[in-house]
Amino acid sequence: MSEQREVARQSGTSLVFACSGAADVGAISDRAARRLSAEKSASMCCIAAIGADIQEIVAKARSAGAIVAIDGCSLECAKKVLEQGGFQGFAHVQLEDMGMGKGKSPVTDERVETVAQEARKFCCR
Ligand code: SF4
Repeated sequence: MSEQREVARQSGTSLVFACSGAADVGAISDRAARRLSAEKSASMCCIAAIGADIQEIVAKARSAGAIVAIDGCSLECAKKVLEQGGFQGFAHVQLEDMGMGKGKSPVTDERVETVAQEARKFCCR
């Protein structure tokens, strides 16, 4: 088990941020994060609120037991927004690394579940 997973397992609430981009892979990232939130594996939070430095959401993220960022493509917008907000050491799932090409990966339940399954490994509840 990776160090990230061990930390997640031992701590409290998990938060998931998706890039939620306009591309098909962005939509898959969003759907996967919503799935984790619906099943209570993690709470989905707004990545835009981190970018906008909304203190309520930043504080929530700072107190999270684990953070999982899901990005649709190698531009890694969610990861960069979190890093610019001062977050480090969070788990990261990137769909191109999982063989889902941008513009070539229509949203399907199977793809959403594949991503959710990968992100779920880093959640602690
Ligand atoms: S990571 Fe890729 S898909 Fe997601 S918002 Fe950025 S450019 Fe769009």
